[in-house]
Amino acid sequence: MNVDVAIIGSGPAGLAASIELAESGLSVVILDEYYRPGGRLLGQRYEDPKAPETEREWDGMKLALELVEQARKRQVEIRCGVTVWSVSPGWKIELGGADEKTVHAKAVLLATGAAERALPMPGWTLPGVVSVGAAQTFTNLHHVAIGKSVMVVGVDPLAISVALEMKHAGVNVVGVAMAPRSPMTEKLSSPSHALSQLAKAADLAPNPLLRLMGRLAGGRLGKMAVHALRWPLLQIEGIPVDIRKAVARIEGEESVEAVILQSVSANGVPTGREERVEVDAVCLSAGLYPLIELAQVAGCSLVQVPELGGVVPLYGSDLSTTADGLYVAGNITGIEGAKVAMAQGKLAAVSIAQAMGKSPTLPKEEAIQAVKRARALSPIRFLPDVEQGLAKMERLWREAWLSKEGDEAWRM
Ligand SMILES: Cc1cc2nc3c(=O)[nH]c(=O)nc-3n(C[C@H](O)[C@H](O)[C@H](O)COP(=O)(O)OP(=O)(O)OC[C@H]3O[C@@H](n4cnc5c(N)ncnc54)[C@H](O)[C@@H]3O)c2cc1C
Repeated sequence: MNVDVAIIGSGPAGLAASIELAESGLSVVILDEYYRPGGRLLGQRYEDPKAPETEREWDGMKLALELVEQARKRQVEIRCGVTVWSVSPGWKIELGGADEKTVHAKAVLLATGAAERALPMPGWTLPGVVSVGAAQTFTNLHHVAIGKSVMVVGVDPLAISVALEMKHAGVNVVGVAMAPRSPMTEKLSSPSHALSQLAKAADLAPNPLLRLMGRLAGGRLGKMAVHALRWPLLQIEGIPVDIRKAVARIEGEESVEAVILQSVSANGVPTGREERVEVDAVCLSAGLYPLIELAQVAGCSLVQVPELGGVVPLYGSDLSTTADGLYVAGNITGIEGAKVAMAQGKLAAVSIAQAMGKSPTLPKEEAIQAVKRARALSPIRFLPDVEQGLAKMERLWREAWLSKEGDEAWRM
């Protein structure tokens, strides 16, 4: 198959890009390994307090269906159930799980999204333990409860958001507690870190006290703030969020039967007191990281930017990479919400269309501004220092250009 542009990933970034590219008169195929298009949008359902009154309900599934319809109307081909395992300059895209094994394209957009970090802990392989992403998919996409009584482990914006989504779906969420202290968990097991994370989720938990405590935790008063926080002060829509207790282990014979909660000091050290809480499911949350493998296979430079979620492709303000004709959009560029992913998809499409001599529906500068606006209006903020991360990326990009000596200089 030959197309102008191949997009890998049918999440909000890929779908939004496809619509703009097709509008510019380019032929587009979207490739996705999931059985249906929409990416992470499919499991998202919550109130968006920053949206206008009439658009408060964020229904990711509905939005995904609308985007797919718009794309198909413009003759975008969407192929699901196919895994892209290689992308090589030229551009040649190799597929698994498809009759046609290769796609040739003039440009490629990587919109592969993000993955969840693992949270290994005693008992985590028992049936009934799921990741926060799986819990979200079960609850909002398949309408299946992961259990009758659920404990959420890990205190971060996504964990809180999914705890609320489960509660709204009728699940008894017994609480959200810290991850246990281990070499794997590092900051995740620190109450003051958790507190600042919670403050950033303040829009989802509009509790002024929480916001105040989060700000305190960021400064010299951090320790005091953590000491000051006592049950039942931290409740989000009735769900206890206990940053002074960690789930030390999960217990059960055949499947989850209980969690053992351990009190921890302000800096996350166990104080020895334990209590057993009966639950039949546990949901683990340890954060997200950008899925960059295909960018690496494609040969574009990668950089470590913790503020964006870890290793990311080196990209410019127009979302081009160091590999000619290879662009990125969405969570592969850094962990942010779906609104930002959509705006980035559109920006990448505008950049690609321009580079291919077509007239996009809006000027590039306008598309760049739209990404900034989407960021400001995003109802969920996964990483607190995204702006610093983006500034770092801009500097690294500039430096790379300045030191560029032929194509080889781009390779990491
Ligand atoms: C577990 C989890 C929960 C989230 N919850 C929320 C939330 O509640 N609200 C929110 O705003 N944001 C949430 N996000 C962030 C979310 O990723 C963004 O909102 C948005 O969906 C990112 O869009 P995207 O297009 O970059 O990627 P995604 O929506 O993740 O889509 C990427 C697509 O690429 C496909 N893909 C990846 N690799 C390949 C390959 N090699 N071959 C073929 N296909 C491939 C995947 O199957 C997927 O469909 C969540 C993210 C995760 C991981």
